Amino acid sequence: MQQLSSRRRFLKKAAFAGGGALLGTVGLNQISPKIWREPLEFEPSRSYWARSQPLQNPPLKEDIAVDVAVLGGGFTGLSAAYYIRSISPHKRVVVLEAKGCGNGASGRNGAMVLTMTADRYMQFSSAPAIDKKIYDLTAENIRTLSKLSAATGIDCELETNGALQVLGTSEDMQAAKAYVQQARSLGMPVEFWDKQRLVDAIGTEVYEAAFFDPNGGHIHPMKLVHVFKAAAENAGAEIYENTTVASIEEGRENLLHTSSGHSIKAKSLVLATNAFTSRLGFFRNSIVPVHEYVAVTQPFSEQQLAEIGWRKRVPFNDSRTEVFYLGLTEDGRIHIGGGSPSYFFNSGVGDASDGASHFAQLQRELVRIYPSLSGVKFEAGWNGLVDWSLDESPSVGCTGSNKNIFYGLGYSGHGVNLTSVFGRIIADLEAGREQPWKQFPFLNARLDYVPNEPFRWLGAQTGLAWYRLTGS
Ligand SMILES: Cc1cc2nc3c(=O)[nH]c(=O)nc-3n(C[C@H](O)[C@H](O)[C@H](O)COP(=O)(O)OP(=O)(O)OC[C@H]3O[C@@H](n4cnc5c(N)ncnc54)[C@H](O)[C@@H]3O)c2cc1C
Repeated sequence: MQQLSSRRRFLKKAAFAGGGALLGTVGLNQISPKIWREPLEFEPSRSYWARSQPLQNPPLKEDIAVDVAVLGGGFTGLSAAYYIRSISPHKRVVVLEAKGCGNGASGRNGAMVLTMTADRYMQFSSAPAIDKKIYDLTAENIRTLSKLSAATGIDCELETNGALQVLGTSEDMQAAKAYVQQARSLGMPVEFWDKQRLVDAIGTEVYEAAFFDPNGGHIHPMKLVHVFKAAAENAGAEIYENTTVASIEEGRENLLHTSSGHSIKAKSLVLATNAFTSRLGFFRNSIVPVHEYVAVTQPFSEQQLAEIGWRKRVPFNDSRTEVFYLGLTEDGRIHIGGGSPSYFFNSGVGDASDGASHFAQLQRELVRIYPSLSGVKFEAGWNGLVDWSLDESPSVGCTGSNKNIFYGLGYSGHGVNLTSVFGRIIADLEAGREQPWKQFPFLNARLDYVPNEPFRWLGAQTGLAWYRLTGS
């Protein structure tokens, strides 16, 4: 089937696979992790969502021994802690978060709640029956988010009015139509929208048609962090914030050391550290940590939104090479993310001044989509780290010679919903219940090889240059 021309395939076209892998066989690639140690740094968040960050718990102040140590207080870590305690209430489970919960991608994203995985979004693999199962699994998980929100009493502003991928070229429209036809024959309720229907929903005339998934939606991501934090704590997990794990000694009982000098003995370990995972020496050759940018406007009144024409509260992203994604907050702000991403040498964190050109690009795109917004200023702009895998496939599973290190990563910008599916799978794996998940391609999936520095940087720059050149 014809494929959509999306950014979601840009890294694959980068020099990683070719030049990088070739160079990767030479000695420098082997020794480079020792020459260039990745920094264990965490930028504070400037995200609009961070204004709703839950109150932070105190850091770990003593040495402890636990059954399960979860590293990372984002969606993956908090949901894994919740599910592990739900399955095994007798286990001592701790979450260790370097800054505050939601300081990573979970509190900085584009708020689109999507079905499927990034590599299979609007695209069938060679096993469509499994793709349908992934659709059902992820659609069901969105209903679980709603139930958890109700159970914790924390409103995460989940709106399940669907999600749109807008289309601009006849090739993309043809591919989307073919996908919808096959999907509907398998019982997936997705739709192809013509231009008029799209204009009636979101007001802008710049796109030609759209793919609509009625199971998608929009959420306040930091409030979802709060939901999972509360659910994990209610289930009996302990959460320590401002607690950075600086090193890990693997063993039948893993030994973790925090940057403040405490140790944690843990029978099982969950790596829920997303794009930061390589900094601890794991999955260094699987993930490219790429910075993406998001900005938000002031709130618009109902009347102003009606004038813009955004009548149906659905988020949308476009199908071009250089993807942009837009949504509406509960109080009527428009947020826009995407554009040209950045990669900093050795998986480094960016410097704040880097943002200006990205936010200017987001502003231009917003005005292109909605010309009446010319002159509107952003109230906040921020960046966040995406854990790209080269073919955009995620992986969840168990690693390490003692088979007691569990992980979920490689969401490739498609993790608001999938992360807690993986949290649930991690809990099952930790409890020895692998069987139901064996049918899914993401279980223990081997991710494509990413070379070490400087080849990773060269590959990323080549890929991003290609991306900028071909982006419309
Ligand atoms: C700009 C942007 C836009 C996005 N838009 C969307 C979208 O619209 N829809 C969608 O589905 N997905 C989107 N995503 C992807 C989605 O946000 C992520 O896939 C998801 O949040 C990943 O959650 P996580 O818990 O795995 O990782 P994170 O939320 O990144 O959590 C990892 C946590 O680990 C902590 N940590 C790391 N190392 C250590 C250590 N050594 N010790 C202790 N703690 C540590 C970090 O501080 C961090 O809080 C977007 C991502 C970004 C960055």
